Amino acid sequence: MSTQQHPELPFLGHVIDGKETESRDGARFTTVDPYSRQPWAEVALGGVEDAHDAVTAARRAFDEGPWPRMGYVERGRLLHRLADLLEAHEEELALADSHDMGKPLEQARHDVARAGHNFRFFADHARLAAAEALPMDSGHHAYTTFGPAGVVVAIAPWNFPLMLETWKVAPALAWGNTVVLKPAEDTPASATILARLALEAGIPQGVLNVVHGYGPASVGEALTTDPRVDRITFTGETGTGRAIARAASANLTPVSLELGGKNCNIVFADADLDNAVAWSVQSIFRNAGQICLSGSRILVQREVYDEFLERFVAAAEALVVGDPADPATEFGPVASQEHFSKVAGYVESVGEHGGRLLTGGLGEGWFVRPTVLVDLPPTAPHVCEEIFGPVAVVEPFDSEAEVLETANASRYGLDAQVFTEDLSRAHRVADGLHVGTVWVNCFFVRDLRAPFGGVGDSGIGREGGTFSREFFTEPKAVVMQIDRTPR
Ligand code: NAD
Repeated sequence: MSTQQHPELPFLGHVIDGKETESRDGARFTTVDPYSRQPWAEVALGGVEDAHDAVTAARRAFDEGPWPRMGYVERGRLLHRLADLLEAHEEELALADSHDMGKPLEQARHDVARAGHNFRFFADHARLAAAEALPMDSGHHAYTTFGPAGVVVAIAPWNFPLMLETWKVAPALAWGNTVVLKPAEDTPASATILARLALEAGIPQGVLNVVHGYGPASVGEALTTDPRVDRITFTGETGTGRAIARAASANLTPVSLELGGKNCNIVFADADLDNAVAWSVQSIFRNAGQICLSGSRILVQREVYDEFLERFVAAAEALVVGDPADPATEFGPVASQEHFSKVAGYVESVGEHGGRLLTGGLGEGWFVRPTVLVDLPPTAPHVCEEIFGPVAVVEPFDSEAEVLETANASRYGLDAQVFTEDLSRAHRVADGLHVGTVWVNCFFVRDLRAPFGGVGDSGIGREGGTFSREFFTEPKAVVMQIDRTPR
């Protein structure tokens, strides 16, 4: 990103109170395509006043507008119409994310489909899960209602821009809240397009607002310290999550934090190795390794360590690396120059920690090739820290007990993958892992009814299905006497 002016490029504004606008002070920045390393769009660069305006619009739309008062059927109809529009604009949205962060276009199209599904799922879920009846033995009848919480601030990262933004915006809107969305500064484009389409779908002004800009001492901080905000849902780095939790505590604003991960991918000797290798490659190299859920630490039982490694390296080398716009491309550059420098630091320092690079390394421009590291001690930063790039660390282990202890020693606990053909072991290990999600013989497959989130430094809270309902609403208990005869 840069603040140099490029008036010839397409412009993406904030969307506040139903209008696409410049910043109050007229400031703009450019967003840079990591493949061409050239700016491709100009974006409004917001500040504290723009954040304030966006919360004012969302507050008014919540306190006075029709959205929170609308029935579930009508709200659901508008959210389905928005999903239709996302699907109709698939190419425009996929190109926006692909230009912003270098994601292969084919994968960006998949993300748009998931974004549409987020709106459809939560629209239907809210209608079907709007209340719970609790018949009581005492001659009373209780029920729980789930009214909207109010103004929701959603702060998103750059790795799955549209998909993760809609993972927050869809349940927040479905439950009748109004929203201020702040996309990551590296990937602003699809959020503005989303807000334009929400207006086209008939979602009222001020219900979905988008404000662009930086985090600390700027838009992000202003949104998280505003006392008019009722919920903050954040996905991003653990350090940022801590800053947001501190900021939110001043107003006791509830937070949901989906943070970083250093996830173990455990391959037992009895695994179907073809399947294990195929999913392991997806897990660490899809999206150039920029997935919070990536199985970046691969633990392989010693009996099959050499065979797994040989096949895994071959599969990593077979990935098609190149232009994100080419339909054959499976693997693009990392998302920015700053991120390239961070990942490069890990790749270049492997020897200093006694490790070896088996394949990969730094490529042209902002490419880091699919990289496999071995022989690192458990204390090396490559083994303990989230690299958030296409860098797999592979280590041998001997026993089930040992691998569980290793996996659970991490300060993170987002997810784990387990490859085994032994059903009892699969259940035992899934039960023993201290993480939010366990994938057995697969990766990245999601059911939106299931809880999603992490333990330890990977976050606070869960979203998905009824877990999103609990966060984005104010549940209320109503107890009625229906039988006056004492029991
Ligand atoms: P980041 O924390 O740097 O930024 C995320 C967002 O927070 C951006 O919009 C940024 O502008 C904003 N921000 C930064 N400082 C802020 C502040 N003080 N107050 C308010 N907002 C602020 O994260 P990133 O680099 O964009 O994303 C990568 C990280 O996200 C990785 O750690 C990854 O694991 C994590 N992630 C987690 C999940 C999950 O579901 N657990 C999913 C995707 C990504």
